[in-house]
Amino acid sequence: TVVTRFAPSPTGSLHIGGARTALFNYLYAKGRNGKFLIRVEDTDRERSTDEAVKAIFDGLSWLELFADEEPVFQFSRADRHREVVQTLLDSGHAYRDYTTAEETGRLRDEAKAERRSFESPWRDRVAAGLEAEQPFVVRFRRPLPGRVEVQDEVQGAVSWDNGDLDDLVLLRSDGAPTYNLAVVVDDHDMGVTHVIRGDDHLNNAARQSLIYDALGWPRPSFAHIPLIHGPDGAKLSKRHGAQAVHEYAEMGYLPEAMRNYLARLGWAHGDDELFSDEQAQEWFDLSGVGKAPARLDFDKLAHVNAHWMRLAADDGLAKQVLDLHLARGHVLGEDDEVRLTRAMPFLKDRAKTLNELVDQTAFVLRRRPLVIFEKALPLLAGESGERIGRLRDRLKLFASWDVFALEAELKAFAEEEAVGFGKIGPAVRAALTGDGISPDIAKTLAALGREESLGRLDDALQ
Ligand code: GLU
Repeated sequence: TVVTRFAPSPTGSLHIGGARTALFNYLYAKGRNGKFLIRVEDTDRERSTDEAVKAIFDGLSWLELFADEEPVFQFSRADRHREVVQTLLDSGHAYRDYTTAEETGRLRDEAKAERRSFESPWRDRVAAGLEAEQPFVVRFRRPLPGRVEVQDEVQGAVSWDNGDLDDLVLLRSDGAPTYNLAVVVDDHDMGVTHVIRGDDHLNNAARQSLIYDALGWPRPSFAHIPLIHGPDGAKLSKRHGAQAVHEYAEMGYLPEAMRNYLARLGWAHGDDELFSDEQAQEWFDLSGVGKAPARLDFDKLAHVNAHWMRLAADDGLAKQVLDLHLARGHVLGEDDEVRLTRAMPFLKDRAKTLNELVDQTAFVLRRRPLVIFEKALPLLAGESGERIGRLRDRLKLFASWDVFALEAELKAFAEEEAVGFGKIGPAVRAALTGDGISPDIAKTLAALGREESLGRLDDALQ
């Protein structure tokens, strides 16, 4: 069975590049009845933090990218990593290097000046036994001469002359396993069959392949996907705006929209732009991953989000909008959720983000008596005010409070008064919302409900 994994280093929040890597791994496994696993690569003790671990899992659960097994924490497996290093030492595929850090630095500079690759003097030296007390690192003894070839599912066949690589350190002098070794051991032990990750790891695939070979372990399939670029084609960076997944949540994008959009970042299935998760699982394949970096496109994201908002159930959408109101410190009343739900069908078709819905539903949360903006006050006095009063009296007798009936009723009223609706609308809207921002009047009345609407009109006409 197919086993994939997402292996974040917990040094910050979940970025959209990481989220896309996780999604590709998830889709690839799910579409093949496989397993999707998560491994937290927390071996860099100085840079790894608990907050980052939490932030990454929060981001993944927002996107509903759940692993099929308990996550593995790499640092906790250090003993196993050391055990494997011992087998490499035993088989001659690794050696102890007693060169001091200082000396290594000097030899490296020398090699650089002579344009040859650095070799540790211990590669071919037999330990005399005197070294036992000296600190050492363990290095991998790469096969020389030789080449290593990686059949990458995205990049094609890529090969390296082993001479151009180096004898990489497997264990540091304090006994800490290094990154490339830990990845190989963990991927092997977790049964990972497909390694899908950013192409900044392509060179590591060469090193890791040599370690697999030395251990006599089958290599996984590799797929190195191009990184995400900004709209201008430059490598994604802060100046392009939001990078962390939680920022997209805060901007009001729906998780299903984000998944749909991320799936299309660097992968294509014909011309399909809008698709469900089930479809993505069915369609996703590495052959559809492009070799060129994908560009972030905020207009497209907004378009995808608008699509998913239109499809979203009104009550679920209302709940998310309500949460965002709360997050903004807005005070909620008992009936607000019901009113927000009633407002959704009128608003969700045109909004591009949840945050737009939050702005557009501020009128629902206003408390009676509303503070009405100054410019609207004259509209509620004098002749115009009397007219609004007649409308209120008429609506008081009006029982069927649905949007179509209300529309017809408002139209009939305007005809009876022999005025265009433009003469009535602004005043009614001000009475109902305070600041005059709301969907059209019939929809506003329908969303607020009968009692609240009439109450607000009463207040305004006091
Ligand atoms: N921990 C690595 C990173 O966050 C990923 C390593 C891998 O996927 O093999 O870049």
